[in-house]
Amino acid sequence: MEYEPVIGLEVHAQIHTGSKMFCSCPVVEDTGDLPPNTYVCPVCTAMPGTLPVINRRAVEMTILTGLALHCRINPITRFSRKNYFYPDLPKGYQISQHSLPLAVDGYLEIETEAGPRRIRINNVHLEEDTGKLYHVGDASLVDFNRAGVPLIEIVTEPDMRSAEEVRAFATKLRQILVYLGVNSGDMEKGVMRFEASVSVRPAGSAGLNPRHEIKNLNSFRALARAVAYEIAHQIEVLESGGQVVQQTMGWDEARGVTYVQRTKEYAHDYRYFPEPDLPPLEVSREWVDELRGQLPELPDARRARFVAEHGLGAFEAGLLVADKEVADYYEAAAVLGKVDPKTLANWVTGVLFRLMKETGKGVGELPVSPQMLVELIEMVQTGAVNLNTGRQVLEEMVATGHDARRIIEEKGLAQISDEANLRLVIEQVLDEHPAQVAQYLKGKEQVVGWLMGQVMKATQGRANPQMVRALLRETLETRRGQR
Ligand code: ADP
Ligand code: MG
Ligand code: ZN
Repeated sequence: MEYEPVIGLEVHAQIHTGSKMFCSCPVVEDTGDLPPNTYVCPVCTAMPGTLPVINRRAVEMTILTGLALHCRINPITRFSRKNYFYPDLPKGYQISQHSLPLAVDGYLEIETEAGPRRIRINNVHLEEDTGKLYHVGDASLVDFNRAGVPLIEIVTEPDMRSAEEVRAFATKLRQILVYLGVNSGDMEKGVMRFEASVSVRPAGSAGLNPRHEIKNLNSFRALARAVAYEIAHQIEVLESGGQVVQQTMGWDEARGVTYVQRTKEYAHDYRYFPEPDLPPLEVSREWVDELRGQLPELPDARRARFVAEHGLGAFEAGLLVADKEVADYYEAAAVLGKVDPKTLANWVTGVLFRLMKETGKGVGELPVSPQMLVELIEMVQTGAVNLNTGRQVLEEMVATGHDARRIIEEKGLAQISDEANLRLVIEQVLDEHPAQVAQYLKGKEQVVGWLMGQVMKATQGRANPQMVRALLRETLETRRGQR
């Protein structure tokens, strides 16, 4: 039988406001070496008698996220207590939004092989993060630095149909959150975490089957692998006459398998009830309109503008806007108006991307400003250096932070466009390779490419290639005449 996967996501993203959700402790990204329990206060460690105060900016960031995902913003929302016991949860409950989330009924459009698809968003709501547990030998240690950090939860409808679509969704969502300034997108620091619900059904049917919910997926790779594994696993179970029952699963990254954490009978009963320490939160139309005005240009719009304004292809523009920093860098270089935007895009998505990958650095961390890149491209275009050498110069710029002019001077890389000089080198190369010259004269045209390579080699790659090509042919033809 043909099966169709059905997948929904719940995504948690930390909101990097100045302070925590209900107190004034700072929000710090988990770099792994922060001293534990230093960014805490009586409120986020749940001392008796303390009261929460809502962080206005966190509410605004959630509304902005809702708006970016085409949601409706509820005019009145409420916080609830979600009760459960876990040592990293100091209050014994988490303040979340249950029945009245801030934003509902939106969508996010993703690109798929079959064209764009809309993944519906059920809701976007606001809650607080828990602390963290560390198990050291026999002891369990708890660090509350993260307790009370504002968290956005984004819940999709079960609209995704493959692991690729899940990855596309997660990637796009991350881009949007970074563009909005909600978080840094640094997945290694746990600023975005995923839970995927997966079921399969006979292709073409409409009902929903019981699902497996995979918890704690902290990277795109883990997310996509876990979903792909579950799909294959569930099909196998059904094919062999078994049944899939609703379960909560963990993901074993090392073995590449999911495992059962708890079954339905042991499902949590969170005993939600309205948070008595916080009043309902009214969200006026004016406030929402004001926030709508604050929305930055988002990746889709920016890509469309790059296509229209700079004449780029959609794919190329997509590569540039995927990372906001890269898009900003490209624009800063493009507005200088000195080099053709398409050539500029080639340099960025070609050599610069390679160098970013090799150095493991973001474009903002490279010591090459947009002006410096443009200056180099101009030097290539005016023939001061040839294209190949230009690429090497950029590599050197990234390594040293020096500008192109300095590197070209110091390393003597300037292009040789002096005709007399080139003629001398060509004559010498031809004299050294009589066999190849003879082959050419017998009609073997391809030899020109090889001879050209020898000339480039003799000039350490500095010769002007267009000139070499022309002069080489001319010289060979002269020799033919002299035979
Ligand atoms: P719960 O109340 O248990 O959290 P929700 O209705 O909120 O359940 O759904 C949680 C997530 O699971 C959502 O992303 C939703 O799209 C997804 N989901 C719900 N039912 C299914 C199903 N049968 N198959 C796959 N995903 C599902
Ligand atoms: Mg849920
Ligand atoms: Zn605090």
